[in-house]
Amino acid sequence: MSRPRNFEENRFMGDKRTMRVHDLDNATDQCAIDDIEAAESYLAFGPDSLPEARNRGYHACRHCNPADEVA
Ligand SMILES: [Zn+2]
Repeated sequence: MSRPRNFEENRFMGDKRTMRVHDLDNATDQCAIDDIEAAESYLAFGPDSLPEARNRGYHACRHCNPADEVA
């Protein structure tokens, strides 16, 4: 799966439509990252971490299963 151009420096991508956060290092076809890109509903987090995504109301995607450890 190709990494979205805007996310070369980011690991976590939020989908504003579903309020899910994906781990781009583990993304699967079920994540439909291409769909998120096409709909331009993606969101980057700053800092690029799962706790930050949670703080913003995003839930971990069950396909790529973002983990809590932060780089
Ligand atoms: Zn996912």
